[in-house]
Amino acid sequence: MLSNLNQPLRTLPGIGLKREKLLESVGIATVSDLLLYLPYRYVDRSTEVGIAHLPLDQEVTVVGEIVAMETIPGKRRRFVMTVEDDTGKMSGTWFGGYQYFRGAYEAGDLVALGGKLSRFGGKLQMTHPEVEVLASEGDEEQRLHTGRIIPLYHTTAKMKSERMTARSLRRLLFAALDTVGEEIVDPLPDDIRERCGVANLREAIEKVHFPDAFADVDAARHRLAFDEIFYIQLYLGQMQKKREKTPGRVLTPNGKLAKQLVASLPFELTGAQKRSVEEIGNDLTRSVAMHRLLQGDVGSGKTLVALLAMLASVDTGCQAALMAPTEILAEQHANTIRNLVEPLGLDVRLLTGRTRAAARREILTGLLSGTVSILVGTHALVQENVLFADLGLVVVDEQHRFGVEQRATLREKGADSHLLVMTATPIPRSLALTLYGDLDVTLLDELPPGREPVKTGWRLAADRAKAFQFLRSEVAQGRQVYIVYPLVEESGKSELKAATETFEDLSTGLLSDLRLGLLHGRMKGDEKEAVMDAFRRGEVDVLVATTVIEVGVDVPNATVMMVEHAERFGLSQLHQLRGRVGRGQHASYCILIADPQEHLSGEAKERLDAMAQTTDGFEISEVDLKIRGPGQIFGTRQAGFPEFRFADLARDVDVVVLAREEAQALLNQDPTLASCALLRQELDAIAWGDLQVVEAG
Ligand code: ADP
Ligand code: MG
Repeated sequence: MLSNLNQPLRTLPGIGLKREKLLESVGIATVSDLLLYLPYRYVDRSTEVGIAHLPLDQEVTVVGEIVAMETIPGKRRRFVMTVEDDTGKMSGTWFGGYQYFRGAYEAGDLVALGGKLSRFGGKLQMTHPEVEVLASEGDEEQRLHTGRIIPLYHTTAKMKSERMTARSLRRLLFAALDTVGEEIVDPLPDDIRERCGVANLREAIEKVHFPDAFADVDAARHRLAFDEIFYIQLYLGQMQKKREKTPGRVLTPNGKLAKQLVASLPFELTGAQKRSVEEIGNDLTRSVAMHRLLQGDVGSGKTLVALLAMLASVDTGCQAALMAPTEILAEQHANTIRNLVEPLGLDVRLLTGRTRAAARREILTGLLSGTVSILVGTHALVQENVLFADLGLVVVDEQHRFGVEQRATLREKGADSHLLVMTATPIPRSLALTLYGDLDVTLLDELPPGREPVKTGWRLAADRAKAFQFLRSEVAQGRQVYIVYPLVEESGKSELKAATETFEDLSTGLLSDLRLGLLHGRMKGDEKEAVMDAFRRGEVDVLVATTVIEVGVDVPNATVMMVEHAERFGLSQLHQLRGRVGRGQHASYCILIADPQEHLSGEAKERLDAMAQTTDGFEISEVDLKIRGPGQIFGTRQAGFPEFRFADLARDVDVVVLAREEAQALLNQDPTLASCALLRQELDAIAWGDLQVVEAG
């Protein structure tokens, strides 16, 4: 934003080398940086309430003149600042940190103190209030600091020690707007601005610093948020346009294999599965490479949709590859797929890091000669010497676990092959439109029939015994159970140790009469596989596991997911874990055990409550977005999710949708933005390299 105002700060009145350095220390290097250094709060001095009339015990801002400052000695030395206005007096008290106060304030300064007012010994006081100097005696531009809504800016201790206060920033900004305000030109075409109901840019920047009313601030911030979102959507739109030029292999399946497979299934495809298969099928027959995301909640049956797409490739005489993030998952996919399509006479192979050399050679030969139709594996598929005769389709499961390059590399092993990425991490629409904004999206929004929602409750650890009783009753009915342990970093114990110890405790104690299995990340691949296989075959009743179990594991007979220290898990992780049960015809349960030792934080409770209230992954993700904000949401950080300064995707959902529509309409009309030179310039000035949306070669 404001890329035409990138001149050094020095060019502004009132800024010399020293101040320039100081401002640089908080990331303000140019005039545009300064203009975009927004107030963190405002004090409304236009309708000020006098000290004597302010309410007690709630957050208030006191504005008054400093009449006295003193350090009171004693065991608890303290610094007291007394402030007065026309109606009365109050004092702010700080214990410790006097050095900082010395010299930072002067009697006669007009200050704002923020905090809770209380009455102590008949006197009004605040402890450790926030303090900002609004004006000093003799300030010429009094009108900047009084009688209006006054902006407060964050200042660091270093800035304060050099007498760069909120007040000086206010003056600098006023001078800056006075000098370069005219040069703020709005890059947004008028018609878009009007349709979207956003303020003019110059007005927004001026008003965000010096508003006449609080509504001005809202309008200004809305405009800045809009820009941030709009530029990303323009960028994504351009990428999508570019991608539409990527040639794609025209696949011409006659549907024979798919029909055979569907006929052999013991169930019907869900409506959503049928729709998804059709959507993907259409893409595969076009001469443009498919880049599609299949998004579906846990248990919605994505594997089958992917398999039907792979069969379309095989039907045409090409091959297909499926990459999964863990060995457990790759093995499971290979087993599922083998069971389903070996009757059709297809050769399905599994390739992981621990495939033995001889087997590996055989697989590679089969791939090259074309006898292997479907290759399933981990990131081992990306290795250089894995070469296909003719790869038509690449499927990536749990795509957020892979980097952009890995996906692209695998796709490049085919000539113009298609790409289908899958995710079971539901994310809110505003995030999806941003993170996956350049992909086509298919939503698998229906669970197979007969699935009851997983009954979920959270209990304190004191009730664990009851939970075990329940777990036993399920096992007695022939069902199976997971018990999952998180990382236990604080206590110095490893996740592994916690799971291992519990496994031993349980198998010699409480659950000694049941068949227990242990699964954790440090076990060797074949040990893991052996345990998983035993669990799958029903030879293990209770699987004690670390979070290696989290992704994708599918054992329909398992009906209880018990999570220990559930308060330490994030929402999407809990949702993933819960997704391991409720995958068959039996009623299923998720028991979240919260540790009483831990002082349960408000956020942890919110998470656990959300889990108990809904099983809908999208609802969960909305809650998650509200609690944590977009930058923290699972997966988004690895994907290089952009940091927003002004926008808030949890709040600005409608803005995202609107900005996307406008960006696409504009690009359809003017793909190179030739008619909007300023917009083009802004877009080019942004370092898009940091934004790694789901993009594939
Ligand atoms: P996810 O979307 O979480 O990857 P899976 O593909 O693992 O889900 O499918 C979950 C379970 O549902 C599997 O056991 C699968 O066989 C079963 N399934 C898939 N589609 C259907 C359907 N249409 N009807 C009944 N069960 C289905
Ligand atoms: Mg899956």
